[in-house]
Amino acid sequence: MVIPYKHEPFTDFSTKENQEAYQEGLALVESYLGQDYDLVIGGERISTEDKIVSINPANKEEVIGRVSKASQELAEKAMQIADETFKTWRKVKPEVRADILFRAAAIIRRRKHEFSALLTKEAGKPWNEADADTAETIDFLEYYARQMLKIKDGMPVESRPGEYNRFNYIPLGVGIVISPWNFPFAIMAGTTVAAIVTGNTVLLKPASTTPIVAAKFVEVMEEAGLPKGVLNFVPGSGAEVGDYLVDHPRTRFISFTGSRDVGVRIYERASKVNEGQIWLKRVIAEMGGKDTIVVDKEGDLELAARSIVASAFGFSGQKCSACSRAVVLEDVYDQVLDRVVELTNELTIGNPVDRSNYMGPVIDQSAYNKIMEYIEIGKQEGKLVAGGEGDDSKGYFIKPTVFADLTPDARLMKEEIFGPVVAFTKAKDFDHAIEIANDTDYGLTGAVITNNRDHIEKAREDFHVGNLYFNRGCTGAIVGYQPFGGFNMSGTDSKAGGPDYLLLHMQAKTTSETL
Ligand code: NAP
Repeated sequence: MVIPYKHEPFTDFSTKENQEAYQEGLALVESYLGQDYDLVIGGERISTEDKIVSINPANKEEVIGRVSKASQELAEKAMQIADETFKTWRKVKPEVRADILFRAAAIIRRRKHEFSALLTKEAGKPWNEADADTAETIDFLEYYARQMLKIKDGMPVESRPGEYNRFNYIPLGVGIVISPWNFPFAIMAGTTVAAIVTGNTVLLKPASTTPIVAAKFVEVMEEAGLPKGVLNFVPGSGAEVGDYLVDHPRTRFISFTGSRDVGVRIYERASKVNEGQIWLKRVIAEMGGKDTIVVDKEGDLELAARSIVASAFGFSGQKCSACSRAVVLEDVYDQVLDRVVELTNELTIGNPVDRSNYMGPVIDQSAYNKIMEYIEIGKQEGKLVAGGEGDDSKGYFIKPTVFADLTPDARLMKEEIFGPVVAFTKAKDFDHAIEIANDTDYGLTGAVITNNRDHIEKAREDFHVGNLYFNRGCTGAIVGYQPFGGFNMSGTDSKAGGPDYLLLHMQAKTTSETL
């Protein structure tokens, strides 16, 4: 009997014991910095001349590791092996597949602080953010394993006298998993294991800025007993190997998480039926956001200010769910803005290996440049009231930045910045606030701070986002509790960590036997 699912608790870093455990994790990671990692194709380790070099965004000098880079020839080899392995993996019992996920969760739980420390080094995550990423990884493994056990016998259908009908879910085939750097462990692992536990084989292409944690995860899956060829590790440049894999006629589905531009490109390319292809590819795409916290005049204003600050600046605003717009009713606008500025000015920023730093760096030079450009745009469009400065001499640090008095049609209110920048705008009344919140191409997360029950119900009906929160911030969804995914240009409306997510990796087969 499998015990019921419960999410992995976050570590309390106020205790000395847990602080020491994290320091030990950091020391362990430091002992293996700079190593080389191979591709893994059919269990075989393949080293290439061409490498992706992963560096610490808080300290550009520090190399986290070097990962071999898949060429198109190696991607082809991986595809052939995954295609071949699918013939056997699809027949492995769901219980056995689920057990591998349970074992992997146990291994990661035992090495929790090592993995989190690696995220601190490779992605620049502060301790609590890294700990949440590792906890979410464990949750995905535990949750999807249980979900597989729930759906393994299909769904009930009717049978007439003299016949026996069944409705079962079967896997699709080879899936291409393309993951982002911002949840380099949880999203990479979650999207991979959802495909695997449902009986598909996978080619995993992690983000090029964070490939080491992915390489370590592949090792965990091997240790957990995953047969060779089920999970093939093919890091490489999205532009080079990505298109090749997406276009491949043997690709059955693509599970992508990342930016809108790349997601749209994949969606378009996947729709083309190439020579030798005998199916229409399925695309699961989780893309960007322009997420809003609406503050009502009948709300707890201190809660509002704290929720805005935590949602805008946690992990330097580099979450698809991050609050990048605050829409505040004019009656309380000045009060909320002043308090947000006060709280923002208290935030500490620096190398996240030091736990006292609330915010670490942004991921790389191009993210740094892009965010600094948006800060310049913000100065034209609104009023800079906090932050606005960056320093990329040692790492990619940008101060938490607040802009006031934007018009709803400003670029800062429309475009995803993906950094520590939040823009404030005034609304005349609650209806107007929801109108502004919805005035975006995206529809990922949102939050409403209000004590007005009618306004809660109005937002529940009309605030068009996949994840809507009341009286809290708009980040921090928990697997199995708040299934996550957005509408419109935020993706294909799927919900990671939700009860129907695994079905996206399967197709239903009806069998009818005459008795
Ligand atoms: P990205 O630049 O789109 O990259 C995502 C992945 O796509 C990376 O592995 C990248 O590889 C790959 N890629 C790039 N070009 C490709 C191509 N032509 N074909 C196939 N793959 C290609 O996004 P990111 O900067 O890593 O992540 C940030 C974005 O992800 C934000 O927009 C954020 O909102 C979104 N996000 C959404 C969710 C959600 O659940 N909705 C969750 C997290 C993040 P390289 O690294 O080699 O370029």
